[in-house]
Amino acid sequence: MFVVGLTGGIGSGKTAATDYLTTLGVTIVDADLASRVVVEPGKPALKAIAERFGDHVIAEDGALDRRALREIVFADPDALKALEGITHPAIGQELRNQIAASKSPYTVLVSPLLFETSQKELVHRTLVIDAPAELQVKRTMARDHVPEEQVAAIMKAQLERTKRLDQADDVVENHGSLEKLHGELDVLHKLYLELADNHF
Ligand code: ATP
Repeated sequence: MFVVGLTGGIGSGKTAATDYLTTLGVTIVDADLASRVVVEPGKPALKAIAERFGDHVIAEDGALDRRALREIVFADPDALKALEGITHPAIGQELRNQIAASKSPYTVLVSPLLFETSQKELVHRTLVIDAPAELQVKRTMARDHVPEEQVAAIMKAQLERTKRLDQADDVVENHGSLEKLHGELDVLHKLYLELADNHF
């Protein structure tokens, strides 16, 4: 299966892009969603987290208490490493399963952490959705009703824009209308269909 990894900073338009690719019949595998699936009650990763961090990170209904866990790993890099040692392999396996189950001509793996994790090893080509920082802030504030400082803090923690662009095979500049975004994706979709055809 030919896999395109799609990434970009907060509010760049990853979801706007994958929503459109879905309408073209492309299967989207979402790393954010997979990261939640692997810690659902009954899943091995949740059990491993409880064993490592204690039962107080499990809420009464059996679900992961994300806030309790966040408080532990926030100020403790070793704890964060241990957590990622549990979650990253589980997410990787979930993504591989979903990619294997895809029936579309090619599959898009969308992940905000594509370049920062071993998820990049799952893809054959990378597409960055890029937008100017001011627009990322404006769009995210309007979408999530959050203050500018909060968006700026998340952007600071994310990979630098230039580093992301350096690693991209393809870049869509999403600073115009949605129609313009769709038009650029139409061109790439044709290219990816061709690449998928020649991929064994
Ligand atoms: P996150 O990383 O936070 O999940 P994202 O990269 O998925 O963000 P989107 O949710 O797709 O970003 O876009 C952010 C907001 O900007 C959304 O409300 C979306 O509808 C809007 N948006 C995206 N692209 C455009 C565009 N070209 N024109 C107008 N609005 C846009």
